[in-house]
Amino acid sequence: MNKTNEKKKTSKETLKKIEKDLMERKKQLLDDLENIGSEKNGNKSHVKIPEYGNKPDENAQEISEYTANLATDSVLKKSIRDIDNALERIKKGEYGICKYCGEPIEEKRLLARPVASACVECKTKLQNS
Ligand SMILES: [Zn+2]
Repeated sequence: MNKTNEKKKTSKETLKKIEKDLMERKKQLLDDLENIGSEKNGNKSHVKIPEYGNKPDENAQEISEYTANLATDSVLKKSIRDIDNALERIKKGEYGICKYCGEPIEEKRLLARPVASACVECKTKLQNS
């Protein structure tokens, strides 16, 4: 009956599964953010400086933990942004389409990396240029 295309669009079931995974992951990331004392919706980082005490080595420990938390904070926030973008694309029905060539992204790739917005070919080309 139907011609089977080499590249298939992501099935509804896969899409549902990915959406659920993304939402779960986002929840986890938000929890992680909270754990380091960052505000959930702030654009600026408000990572709390941990307080161990006032001795010089305690201060040094506070600063190094604070720096580590700041780095974690920006990584977490970037991941959350990626997930939000992916969820937005699902909502708009644009999910699983490569933003460069407009071809469907392989389901295998989406399952491995649900926030992917480019197909392997384009990604490879981009990395090599
Ligand atoms: Zn592409």
